[in-house]
Order: sequence, then C-alpha cells, then structure tokens
Amino acid sequence: MTLLSRRGVLGCALCLVAAREARALSWTGPVAQGGFVSGRAEPGTRLALDGTAVRVGRGGEFAFGFGRDAKPDSVLSITPPGGKAEARKLSVEKRAWLEQPITGLPPAMVTPPPETLERIGREREAVRAARRHDTPEPLFATGFMWPATGRISGVFGSRRILNGEPRAPHLGVDVARPTGTPVAAAAPGIVRLAEADLYFQGGTVILDHGHGVSSSYLHLSRIDVRVGQRVARGETIAAIGATGRVTGPHLHFEIGWLGTPVDPQTALPPMPES
Ligand SMILES: [Zn+2]
Repeated sequence: MTLLSRRGVLGCALCLVAAREARALSWTGPVAQGGFVSGRAEPGTRLALDGTAVRVGRGGEFAFGFGRDAKPDSVLSITPPGGKAEARKLSVEKRAWLEQPITGLPPAMVTPPPETLERIGREREAVRAARRHDTPEPLFATGFMWPATGRISGVFGSRRILNGEPRAPHLGVDVARPTGTPVAAAAPGIVRLAEADLYFQGGTVILDHGHGVSSSYLHLSRIDVRVGQRVARGETIAAIGATGRVTGPHLHFEIGWLGTPVDPQTALPPMPES
C-alpha cells in the first residue's frame, strides 16, 4: 500500500507486482528476537526459514518464530505453486533483555540435589517431545488469547539471577493471580502433556496448535485435561498454582515453534487493564 501511494500512477506496473506479491504472502508478528509470526501464503506455496521447512496449510496458513538469541539475518525461502524459489532476506531486530533477580527460592530449586538429576533429565525430555509435534492442522490460525489476565510479573527473555546465581533466561511470560484462578486454552489444540508434578515446572499442560506451534502452562494447582484430548480456544484446562520452582502463585505461559520458545507477548493482544 505504501508503495502504491508513494509511486502513484507512474509506477503502476511495479505496483501490480508488489500488490500481487503482498497478496501471495502476508503475516502479522515482528521479525525480531523472540518474534512469533503467523500468516497466509497462496495455497501450495512452499516455505523454509534458514533451511528449516515451514509447514503451509491447505488454506495457506503458516507460522514460524525467532528464538531469544536469533542472529540478525535470516532467509525465508518462498516457492510459489509451480514457481521458482525466491530467497527473501529478513533483518531480525535485536532486543534488549531485562535482568531479573529472584530471591527466597528453596536452595534445592536453584541447585537441585544429585539424586533428582535423573528425574529432571527425564522430565526435560518429555517436555521437549511434547513441544515438537508437527501436526498438519493449522489450529494456531485462530490467533492466541491470554490464558489468564492479570499483572505481568515476569517477561520473556530476562536474565535470571536466582538466589544470587545466574541461571538460564526466562522463556515465558508470568501472570500473577491467586491459586485456583482458571487457566484457558490460548488457542484450539491437542493436549500433548498433562503432568501434575514436574520438578521445576510443577503442574504442567502442553498444547499442540499444529505446524510445530505449542503453548505451555506451568505451576498449575489443578489439571482438567488428559493427553490426546482436543480443547477449544478459551476452554478451561487447569487452574493457577504455586507448584514447582516458584516464590508465589502465578501462571508461567510459553509459546514455541518447533521447540524454540518465542515471546508470547508478540503473539497476543496487549494484556487487558484489570
Ligand atoms: Zn515464568
């Protein structure tokens, strides 16, 4: 549209090309570190991001994401139906991350005792596998809603200093609400993990939204769904709690693409005022 207005009548041949291309591929979401992108291509288009195939649905739906530490340059390969591959360079915007010191955690949650390491490893694998389903249905295409609303007490990407010790960055968003507050499915999905008591995560549900897109809900006090069950957008799946590594009740919410966590706030509308 900008092209069209800037070039006016003289540039109409170019404009047509631009307009046709814009129709062929459109998306929302930032090309930035932690950005979640969801869009539509002409059905039959093939896409790949930095060599990784991006599934395109029957209606042209697609999604991809950029990790917290994504490099500044990415290449999106676009092959229209019956056409030639075009490599489009994407400049991935760099973001600054907060530092978040957290104190008052039980020492065993910062440096787990050796006898828990096997359990933690097993649980990490189960979580990883649950987030890597590549289901052909583009369930994510409805868009995401907040699974719970309230004060955001932790943002994506922050560097975590737990009881004074540097730990892995925070890869979700935290919503502080009392234990028992209902948690809604952020989009239609298939339950891939429903565990009452993981060491760090506590009560956890992971939903598969198709095309490698997942959402995760941690520290739950109650779980209302079973593995394999289909849930609707907005359906209650669990309740907020204070299980696992926490200092108080809140929902830790993650969105991922093919196992790479992205910033949920890039996939969601602004948090409603309470
Ligand atoms: Zn969190």
